[in-house]
Amino acid sequence: MEFFENLEKLQAEISEKIDAFREVQSSVLDEQFDRYHHVVFEKTNCLTCANCCKNYSPIIEQEDIERIQKALNVDGKYLFDNLIEMDEDGDFVFKSQPCPMLDIDSNKCKIYADRPQACAEYPHTNMKRIKKHLELLETNASICPAANEILDKVHSALSSK
Ligand code: SF4
Ligand code: SF4
Repeated sequence: MEFFENLEKLQAEISEKIDAFREVQSSVLDEQFDRYHHVVFEKTNCLTCANCCKNYSPIIEQEDIERIQKALNVDGKYLFDNLIEMDEDGDFVFKSQPCPMLDIDSNKCKIYADRPQACAEYPHTNMKRIKKHLELLETNASICPAANEILDKVHSALSSK
């Protein structure tokens, strides 16, 4: 896929932009990211992508676990035997990637209405005080083409000021 063709180059470009954002006032950065998050996602069709669901597991909170159990109509034992595990940081994550909740043929999430909150908020490009989360943004921009485009647009807008 084009987006991943030269991952090393892509990551170097992303790092350069992230470094530039460290010099920008936090409120200005929030305003720009909020603006371009909406611009880019208005025209993004995630069903043609699903890179996040294929390459990354969200952190799954307790409330998410309860919702997923109900959506799948399974008990906790089934969930932890088959779908969810604790990672080395002590966070609950899906056991495998692509995510076991992803329908690979359609790129649709099988539990979309009940998906983890972290999935609903991914790629977190409109979070408040984004300056405190530049490392997360750096990671997400190398997985998510939309996040990368948002980062590009914010960088261009700030560079032209
Ligand atoms: S739960 Fe759904 S939205 Fe979240 S990673 Fe899995 S397939 Fe994607
Ligand atoms: S990686 Fe980004 S563009 Fe692709 S499906 Fe996930 S949120 Fe949408």
